[in-house]
Amino acid sequence: MESTQLVTGVFLGITIAVGAFFARFLTFGGSIATFFLASIIFAAGSWKWTLPIFVFFVLSSSLSKLGQPKKKQFESVFEKSGIRDYGQVLANGGIGGLLALAQVALPSQDFYPAYLGSIAAVTADTWGTELGLITRGRTYSIISFKQVPQGTNGGVSLTGFAGGAIGALTIACSSAPWIWDERQAVGIVAAGLSGSLIDSALGATMQAQYQCESCGITTERRIHCSVPAKLVRGKQWITNDVVNWACAFSGASLLLIFRHLS
Ligand SMILES: [Zn+2]
Repeated sequence: MESTQLVTGVFLGITIAVGAFFARFLTFGGSIATFFLASIIFAAGSWKWTLPIFVFFVLSSSLSKLGQPKKKQFESVFEKSGIRDYGQVLANGGIGGLLALAQVALPSQDFYPAYLGSIAAVTADTWGTELGLITRGRTYSIISFKQVPQGTNGGVSLTGFAGGAIGALTIACSSAPWIWDERQAVGIVAAGLSGSLIDSALGATMQAQYQCESCGITTERRIHCSVPAKLVRGKQWITNDVVNWACAFSGASLLLIFRHLS
């Protein structure tokens, strides 16, 4: 690692963190986490590693701002709002940051593809959710295949799936200046989509789901209508962030499996 790359990384990290805070993409804590993550990834891997996560971050944050009036109706159901906090930043990018550091410590051809698989999975998950919420079309439970209301945890829709595929493909393309190989691109899209489906399956089964004892709504929030809500499914510690960590981890793992099987 060169010291000039570290200095550039710190400046880039500050620029992104401050810009994202004022664009209302991130909370204050989210900006601090983004500063550290961006500095580490740039210092460890320069643009080759920074561009994919930067593309994920800018496009996903912008997508969150789309269709705001329609998304308002889901606000009390979801644990978190569109302005991302440090937990969300680390859940989406933490595995990527660890892979960037690992690549500095021990040289292996596996870390970068695993990194792309991880970023593709969180991108597919975010784009799938954002596009699934603002478009029309039926939503089905990934577990029972029964039709469920839009915004249901573990619900999947055709537009959401298509959005996820486009998101994962965009990440594969963002690595094209450094490595381009069609088979690997297919692997990145497959790992990204599979990771986001694992995210949905966990969301439908193990993620904490509460019911408000005042208004009766099913929600990810522990407190609703200012009263503690009752846990009706899953485990209390399996929050939305934990599920996103699992999504990022499975994207990286699946890519390595595809890579070594083919
Ligand atoms: Zn309530």
